[in-house]
Amino acid sequence: MANYRCTVCNYIFDEEKEGIKFDDLPDNWRCPVCNSPKKTFIFLEKEVKEFKEGESTVSEVLVEQMVEWGIKYVFGLPGSTSLGVLDAVRKNKGMKYVQVRHEQTAAFMASAYGKLTGHPAACLTVAGPGATNLATGLFDASLDHSPVLVMTGMLRRQLIGPGSFQEIDQQSFFESMTVYNKVLMTEDQTTTLITNAIKHAILDKGVSHIGIPNDVQKLPYASKTVPFEGSFPNNAITQPMFLILQAAQAINNAERPVIISGFGAINQSENILELAEKITAPIVTTFRGKGVIDEDNELYVGSHGDIGSTAATELVLNSDLLIVIGSSFSDMTHLPEKKTVQIDIDPMMIGRQYPVEVGLYGNSAELVPQLIDLVRENKRVEYLEEIRKLKKEWLDLLNEEADDTKTPVRPQYIIKVLNEKIADDAIITLDIGEDCWWFGRNFWMKKTQTLLMSGYLASMGYGLPAAITAQLVNPERQVVCITGDGGFSMVMADFLTAVRNELPIKIFLFNNHQLGMIMQEQIVEKYPVWQTELYNPDFAAYARDCGGMGISVKTPEELPKAVDKALASEKSVIVDIETDPRRFI
Ligand code: FE
Repeated sequence: MANYRCTVCNYIFDEEKEGIKFDDLPDNWRCPVCNSPKKTFIFLEKEVKEFKEGESTVSEVLVEQMVEWGIKYVFGLPGSTSLGVLDAVRKNKGMKYVQVRHEQTAAFMASAYGKLTGHPAACLTVAGPGATNLATGLFDASLDHSPVLVMTGMLRRQLIGPGSFQEIDQQSFFESMTVYNKVLMTEDQTTTLITNAIKHAILDKGVSHIGIPNDVQKLPYASKTVPFEGSFPNNAITQPMFLILQAAQAINNAERPVIISGFGAINQSENILELAEKITAPIVTTFRGKGVIDEDNELYVGSHGDIGSTAATELVLNSDLLIVIGSSFSDMTHLPEKKTVQIDIDPMMIGRQYPVEVGLYGNSAELVPQLIDLVRENKRVEYLEEIRKLKKEWLDLLNEEADDTKTPVRPQYIIKVLNEKIADDAIITLDIGEDCWWFGRNFWMKKTQTLLMSGYLASMGYGLPAAITAQLVNPERQVVCITGDGGFSMVMADFLTAVRNELPIKIFLFNNHQLGMIMQEQIVEKYPVWQTELYNPDFAAYARDCGGMGISVKTPEELPKAVDKALASEKSVIVDIETDPRRFI
């Protein structure tokens, strides 16, 4: 018998109390507290363990506690100051260790895991360089509010201060990227510190770090673990009825409402669609919010911002009310100041860019259904016609741009082919660069596809690690990575990690031999183009050398077959596509 945690509201489904296995619940079963779908739940051990005196170490208790609190993966690279914890990971059957070739990959993988599941995975590294190599991935998690647990080895306690090999001021180093940052100094703190760290990562949606001195890891220690159930508040926050009524009133008074969905609304597609249909409002997403809604739905009109659609821009510009759900108003989305009803689980996001008409602080899973009940049904026939017309014009433009006759291959055509062939339930991971720009603008997400990206940090090198995580966690789903020559080459050593773990990820590499985004900026800002060209290896040959599949595409005619072959591959595969670096010329 096990427990399952709703990652939206922390409700615990206890199989024993309910008298039914979680897996036997129907697919349309929903969280009884916050109404989130079954897929938002994560497995937890139910049993707590009592270690006997003299039979266990601090590291063994620590790792068992992590497993019981739903942490299933440790990503890292062994090193001399973390061997005690590493060995406890080896011995615990509930934990899977994934060795990487660079710690940055481990941190990106953990960040991707948090974004994908709403629950933390762990990183484990050596002191000093292993710890500092994590930084970029941890800032990605921090900025995108992804829960992550980090454990780093430290020198043995008597050397902390006097100093030795690989010693840095590790606690100060982690301070700016963490929500919780402590050192495990005595064995008595083991379960308290690790459960606090996991709790902070989940509730504060960020990175928790524990430094563990080398000698502490090996100390004999026996203790009872702490159960997860009863340790968390329920997160299904709602608002007083008068505020919800005010929001409903504002919606009822609007003539041209537009719904803006951000990443915070990721599991709320059905509710948002129901609201949109009831009031006849177009749905616009932020870039990170792509995939919240089935983009084939007639009310979806594209993203807003730098990669936005003309339809979204025009509808937002002419709207008299924005209903903003789970979006942090990034300057890349640049929404204009409008009368706004805003829903967000983070109170600091309310009115972040300008004062809003009604701000609802709480969980969209709770608040949107209440709004649906209170708003008046409004079939705006003319508005719907306008939405359809603007969407069609945008889709026609995308189709026109996807020229299948030009060599090197136009990026718009690559996106078109991928759009037609990628599975309806694929997980798509994005890198940062020109490839990401084209994906954001030209790709239309299906309802059950999932998008993973480095949102706020916008870090190159994210695509491959995120794909490795996605495939580890979802072996049955197709995992596709859209990357560029710049981003991929930063982390390409870890293609070996994908091959070694037999992960059939499909990497589509837009190879334009340059840092395309930055070259564009040099041109726009009238700088000479300099140092933005890239000297590349043969990526397909590299894939084969690593034991994966490598496919080169030089012409548009070769592309559809190459995509089919890659998608059918049981090996990790790189499709190296010679890509036209030009944008609209
Ligand atoms: Fe829930």
